[in-house]
Amino acid sequence: MSDLPIRPAIKKLKEYVPGKNPEESGVIKLASNENPLGPSPKALEEIKKRLLDISIYPDQNNLELRRKLAKKIGLSENNFIIGNGSDEVMQMIAATYLSAGDEVLISENTFSTYEFVTRLFDGLPVFIKQKNYSHDLGAFTEKVSKKTRLIFLCSPNNPTGTIIKKAELDDFLKNLPQNIIVVLDEAYSEYVESKDYPAILNYVKEGKNIVVLRTFSKIYGLAGLRVGYGMAKPEIIKYLAITKLPFNINRLATIGALAALDDSEHFEKSLINNHQGKKYFYKALSSLGNKISYVETEANFIMINVKRNADEVFLALMREGVIIRPLTSFGLPQAIRVTIGTQAQNEKFIAALKKVIS
Ligand SMILES: *Cc1c(COP(=O)(O)O)cnc(C)c1O
Repeated sequence: MSDLPIRPAIKKLKEYVPGKNPEESGVIKLASNENPLGPSPKALEEIKKRLLDISIYPDQNNLELRRKLAKKIGLSENNFIIGNGSDEVMQMIAATYLSAGDEVLISENTFSTYEFVTRLFDGLPVFIKQKNYSHDLGAFTEKVSKKTRLIFLCSPNNPTGTIIKKAELDDFLKNLPQNIIVVLDEAYSEYVESKDYPAILNYVKEGKNIVVLRTFSKIYGLAGLRVGYGMAKPEIIKYLAITKLPFNINRLATIGALAALDDSEHFEKSLINNHQGKKYFYKALSSLGNKISYVETEANFIMINVKRNADEVFLALMREGVIIRPLTSFGLPQAIRVTIGTQAQNEKFIAALKKVIS
């Protein structure tokens, strides 16, 4: 069999490893940081009303959603690009800025899509070790070279749940050469409680070379619809928009996202559920003594060091009816990531974990 000529970059790519979906009833999924309260009811209602619209192409520029986001966040519509999930915006960024051989700085133990889009466009990922399960921006600065073109930062970081503090980020950006773009992935920003979390609005307004990513997949409960967005200065947005396929966001997804933005009740409920769940997890996990340890989280998931093979713990928990995420593919073979669920789900997980580790 002769091989068809495939671009060398593609041969090195690995397919994304998603969280497992439950196949039997009674099994709970705490593996993909989805909203345990489900989608915004307002989004659902609006989508149902507008089903007949799907024979018509959506708006190529997604102006209505960009305007609504701009108003809500306090920027201009020209500061927004909408993606088929924020994953697609990552791809637009790589497509816009990477040439073969350009270096891209990425933390170890983080979201895999940064490496994926880098390799897809022939970039060279340069991995930076973490310090205390957090991005080590000092080490990032040391690795900046003439070839560095992009830097991906994830805050709160998936899967460790730690944030980059404002003072650190300010310092880091100040010393960065002007030809480098920083991508700050804030998929979990809505859950952050820390006072040290930077208000990203100002960085965009000041015209910094930064793209901030957010999503409707987490707190808004619309992961299956695929809507995310990037915020940046208009000079950046303009070029990102050129790289996207026409009509990248389907009509129902836009309708759902617009309605979800008005659903402050669902948003608040989701936030309260997460904060209460977090407290429960801290208490319950502490009571398990030194068989495990955990990292305090600013997101809707928690990383637990199970001090043994995470893939085995994953299988054992699945036999108890709970699907979590082993972090082997994130470079943490003894850790698992658990989405904070409803109280009943959290209790089921803790009971299962107790059984598995005893
Ligand atoms: C979930 C997640 C996203 C969101 O991806 P979408 O494509 O918007 O669903 C982005 N970044 C990180 C780190 C995530 O965990």
